This record gives sequence, structure tokens and C-alpha cells, in this order.
Amino acid sequence: PAQFINLQPVPALIGGEPLTSSKTLFDVVRPERGDSAKVHSVVSCSVDDANRAVDAAAKALPSWKSTSFPERRAIFLKAADLLRGRIDEYVKLTTDETCLDLSFSGFELAHLAVPGLEETAAVISTALRGEFPRLDGSGRRELIQREPFGVVLGIAPWNAPFFLALRAILNPLAAGNTCILKTSENSPRTHLAVAQLLYDAGLPKGVLSVVHSAPQDVVEVTNALIHHPAVRKINFTGSTRVGRLIAMEAAKAIKPIVLELGGKAPQIVLDDADIKVAANNAVIGAMMNHGQICMSTAIILVDAKIEKSFLEEVQRLFSENKEALAEYRKAPGKARALFTAASAKRANEILESTLQAGAKIAAGDSSANDVEHASVKPVVVSGVKPEMRLFQEEAFAPILSVTTFTSDDEAVRLANSNSAGLAAAVYGSEVRAVRLAQQIEAGQVHVNAITVHDHPSIPHGGWKESGFGRFNGVAGLHEFTQTRTITMSEP
Ligand code: NAD
Repeated sequence: PAQFINLQPVPALIGGEPLTSSKTLFDVVRPERGDSAKVHSVVSCSVDDANRAVDAAAKALPSWKSTSFPERRAIFLKAADLLRGRIDEYVKLTTDETCLDLSFSGFELAHLAVPGLEETAAVISTALRGEFPRLDGSGRRELIQREPFGVVLGIAPWNAPFFLALRAILNPLAAGNTCILKTSENSPRTHLAVAQLLYDAGLPKGVLSVVHSAPQDVVEVTNALIHHPAVRKINFTGSTRVGRLIAMEAAKAIKPIVLELGGKAPQIVLDDADIKVAANNAVIGAMMNHGQICMSTAIILVDAKIEKSFLEEVQRLFSENKEALAEYRKAPGKARALFTAASAKRANEILESTLQAGAKIAAGDSSANDVEHASVKPVVVSGVKPEMRLFQEEAFAPILSVTTFTSDDEAVRLANSNSAGLAAAVYGSEVRAVRLAQQIEAGQVHVNAITVHDHPSIPHGGWKESGFGRFNGVAGLHEFTQTRTITMSEP
């Protein structure tokens, strides 16, 4: 298969063919690199290119949807094998482009992308087989088939760039749809690498196209994709703000959509919790990938009786790991800057407003934050009230907020008082913690474990403004099929 991944400028992929030039190019820029901030130039697709990509996907649909389950399975298993052998190469590619942490990048490739491919391969034949129910004694028979939608548009973010781009197309492809991947302007080459992997593994030409867009054209190009008549289903992973815009366009076109949006994961710490474990996991969950994970631990709800010892443990962790935390912004591969100067500015404003409203820094130091260079330092803020911005808004930064409660009911009420509902955790004796977990409005609740936990075999998706629809496993394959019931009667 063609090697398009190393071309410069970074090409788009229309019907399996690299698009190597365009009227507009845009640059991927990493602010923490200072003078050498530009990483590479990228081909920006026009509306015409986007429409051609969908036409090619529509053309490839009949033959792809008639492939047998073993044929599809073989491609995903081959891709998993190839990826295992390419982890180092792809970690380099990802971290060069995004400056994300090397270990996080290795994690998303080895522990999310590889098992994601394998799990999907494993469930294809069970998830997609039809049913023959016998509904009554009339002699009529029913056949319920699961059919692909057609062309699926997947829109991906940058923050776990390889896995989230793969996730946007993996379940749809496995279910027999053909796909358009609309990449993030922050990680277009990493997203293109997903297509390279699948084509190298034997994906037939045209089944997957990759559309990049310069930020100034993203609305126009994305709307053209959403409204193209051959696009029959959309999935979007990204911020709640942009998800709302995409959902409104999809509603205009009456097209079904999966929304995987922002989070604000609460972690409840009951008075019978292991404080050391709860504090350690809170710090890891809040600081991993510099707080830029949809499931990042964001709100600690701690029993007022143990707040002091919990904070002392957090402070001890901060002083023992000073170096690791201070290193949080050296590029590349160790860079733990926030993604853009704009996102750093926003996170810092949320922090400042919360401190002005009376909350206090309990660990860390934000005085040297340098938002122009996207630098926001890890901090823990205590005394946060539910009405303060840090409690309400996703900071997408290493800023952990601490609020106290005095009863189990209050803990649940506070955990559910945020508009997000993606991930949560409860620490305490198991039976009591599970009782609380069952009352939390979130797609995933972890008892005595970190909020950042995802596995390709468990359904992933949110409640409330974290979105709707599910990826992964059988649920993910069902999400990208629609049923057709055929009833049969004797003439
Ligand atoms: P984002 O919303 O800025 O961008 C996501 C995608 O939308 C990108 O492809 C981008 O090019 C596109 N986009 C941006 N503005 C657009 C517009 N006006 N019209 C059309 N498309 C537009 O999000 P991000 O910064 O890339 O990612 C971070 C966010 O994603 C966080 O809120 C995080 O919680 C969320 N996220 C959610 C999940 C999940 O599974 N629920 C997973 C990862 C990230």
C-alpha cells in the first residue's frame, strides 16, 4: 500500500489517494517549542475535497458492507499486530506532533489502540448477527437484521490523538459502514497514521478517507460533510461547546449522532476510605496528561472529618514529587504544557476567579503560570463551593478542586450537581461505596480506583452534557447499525 504518512505537507486522503496540495495550507504549532514552534504544514481540504471524500466512501460502501465477518476481523487483527510492532515509531510520531507525554502516548497505543482493534475483531460476528424471533402462533416469521448506516463521519479531538481517531472509525467500519475521519487541526498527522495502519493491514481502497481542515474553514468543511446526503451517521468526540454546534447541524439534517463530550469527574472520599490510596489516585488522575483527559479527576468531594488528613497526604505527594511536577513543561515528549495558549488562558481564568471567590491553593504554586507559552502548573484548590467556576467548568488542566461534605446523601448530591456525567469514583468500604456508586449520574463509576479508566470492552459514553451514545464492544457495534425487520407470511 502507498506510504502517505511521510509526505510533506501532511496530505489528506480522498478515497484512499493522498491529496498532496491545496489552495490553503495550515501549520501545526506547539507553543512550548518557542522559536521552532512550527511542527509541519498540512493540506487543508476544500468543501469540494470533502464532498469527493464522501462520494468515494459511498462508492466503496456496497463492496465493504458485503465483506464477510472473518474478512473484516482479519484486517483489524492484522492492524493490531502491525501496531504492536510500530509502537516506538508511532510514539515518536505522536509526541513530535503534539508534545504529549511519552509514557501517555505509549499507553494509549499499547493499552487502548491495540486492545481496541482486538476487542472489536472479537465481537463482530456476535454483535452483528440477525435474530429470528417467533412472536406469535400465526405462522408469520420475523427476521431482524443489523445493517450499517452507510457513510459515517467521525470527528476526533487531539488529546489521546491516535486512539480517539481510531475509535471514531473502528466500530463504524467493523459494522460495515465506510468512513470519513475529520481530523483535529492539532494532530492531523497522528490521525492520518490511523489510516496508514488500516490500509497497511488490508483495508480496501476508498473505505476510509481523511479530511483535514484549517481552523478558519472548519465550520464550512464540517457542515458540508454533515449535510452530504450519503453521510448517514455522525460521531463527535471533543468539547461540549463544539459538540453542541455539531449536534445542531446534525439535527437540521435529521441525522443520528454520537456525542462524546467534556467531563468533570468527581471523586468521593468517604470517612472509611484508605486516605493514602485516595490521595495518590486523585493526584495521578488529575495530573496525568496534564489534566487533559475527558475522565481526569477534577472534583474531590471529601468527608469534612478527614479533609485535613487528605490534604496533608496530597501536600506530601506534591513535595515528594516536586521534580516530576515541576518538569511539567519541557518539550518534546516531556512537555506537559496545556495544549494551546488559549486553553491555558481559559484554565487560568477559571482558577483565578475561583481563588477570588474565596477558595485557597492547598498544594502547588500557580504564581509562575505563563499562559502565553501555554504553561499552567499543577495545583490543588480547597474550599471550593459548588457555585464557583472551578466546580462547574471543565478546566482541562492539572487543577484539582476540593469540596467537603457531611453526609453520604450530600456527597451524591454534590457529585450529581455538575452538568457533566462521564466518569466518577468513590473511595470507602466496598458495600457503602457501591451503594453510592449506584446513585451517580455518570457512564462509568469506579470504586476505590482512579476516574481515568477505560477499556475497549466496556461501554464508553456519558450522561447529561457529557453526551450520548456508546463506543466499544457489542454496544459500539450496535451503535453503528440500524435494524431492519422483515416479516414473512405464507402467500
Ligand atoms: P474541540 O471541541 O475543540 O475539537 C474537537 C473537534 O472539533 C476537532 O476535530 C476540531 O477540529 C473540531 N472543531 C473545533 N471547532 C469546531 C467548530 N466550530 N465547528 C466544527 N468543528 C470544530 O475539542 P479538543 O480540544 O480537540 O478536545 C478536548 C475536549 O474533548 C475536552 O472537552 C474533552 O473532555 C473532550 N473529550 C471527550 C472524550 C469522551 O470520550 N467523552 C474523549 C476525549 C476528549
